[in-house]
Amino acid sequence: MRRINLEPCFGNVVTTLSRLFLSIPTPQDIENLAASASRRGFKVEEVGRSQEGRPIYAMRVGSGDVRILIVAGQHGSEPAPIVAAMNFVRMVMENEIRIEGMELAVIPCANPDGLSRLGPCLERCGAPSWKCDCAEARLTASLRDMNRDWLELRLPETQAIHSFIHRFDPHIVLDLHEFYARRGSPPRWAHETEGFDAYVTDAPYIGTSPEVQALSMVLASIIRNAIEKATGLVVKILRPGNGIAAIPPIYLGSHVPLEGRAKVLVETWGVGLGTYLIYERILAHLEAIRRTIEFVSKNVDFVKIVERLDRRYDEIVGLEGPRKYVVKGPDAVRAHEHLSRHGIDAKLVEDSVVIEMPQRFSRIARILLDDSYYLVKLFAERSVRTTIDSWLNVSIHRIY
Ligand SMILES: [Zn+2]
Repeated sequence: MRRINLEPCFGNVVTTLSRLFLSIPTPQDIENLAASASRRGFKVEEVGRSQEGRPIYAMRVGSGDVRILIVAGQHGSEPAPIVAAMNFVRMVMENEIRIEGMELAVIPCANPDGLSRLGPCLERCGAPSWKCDCAEARLTASLRDMNRDWLELRLPETQAIHSFIHRFDPHIVLDLHEFYARRGSPPRWAHETEGFDAYVTDAPYIGTSPEVQALSMVLASIIRNAIEKATGLVVKILRPGNGIAAIPPIYLGSHVPLEGRAKVLVETWGVGLGTYLIYERILAHLEAIRRTIEFVSKNVDFVKIVERLDRRYDEIVGLEGPRKYVVKGPDAVRAHEHLSRHGIDAKLVEDSVVIEMPQRFSRIARILLDDSYYLVKLFAERSVRTTIDSWLNVSIHRIY
């Protein structure tokens, strides 16, 4: 059996980390952090409430033309990203990490209801356990996976965070997770069963502009190398869809690139492990955050050019042109509400909804409205219907 390198690494992050929070957090820890962060230079915003009434916070710091968003804890069964985000906020509060030339927003716990179920589950499982995936902590209180809800936006958690994303308008999104090593009985190490202990993915290859792909790819490789170096974990880059399949924008990580934002997803092996390997797992996510900041501070112009070119991408490749859709039917008002939630300029005219393009979120608009759009056809091949008439009682008419 190959041993994971458990030797501590002696970078300045690690020495700091050793003084910091290394256990399984609770929603109360997040609330305490929000209170101290708001006294120590962060602008703390309650972006919404979970189904059980727990606050969801975005903690903002810094200023500049480039904005970075860090989202941890969509799945409450994945503690390391949450703890890393919390430690990161503390390190900024202590001036151990300086944020210059950019604005940063950290959502340390996107699904506090799920997190509240993690501690009790790990106790019951006797973590580390290779059989226990703590599914009830992964999901929201209504037992839904919020990381499948970024198109339909049915859950209050995704609605709140999606609306924050549109207000904050980040250039880069880091989506931090942990995975569950299957085929783990008898207990096996993740790199034996999966071939890696952690992985990093960039933006989807189909539907996303080459510029957003390029920025995501560069960041993903920097992060991969940094994590491997800092932790000794085996880290792979997994390319979403392997360049073949189109990934429906039901995941945060496939949704934001279609809105023109670069994205990197980091996953460490950690579900069901409790505090086992917690040091490496936290360090991995902290490295992802730190390296992103470092990269952006040196490449502000590049990030801004990516944004500008992404906006023109559909126009350049001829996908974009004047187009008009009319949505009619008993659920027209709900359709209008849904499209507006996605930042789409839709007008309620009598009892129908009128959408004219091009506009800022044309790609998402066409995914929701146009079953002749090539992406919608590709998603359908994967049995995912994305047009709003698949869940609302409306008919969609393309006028030109
Ligand atoms: Zn996850």
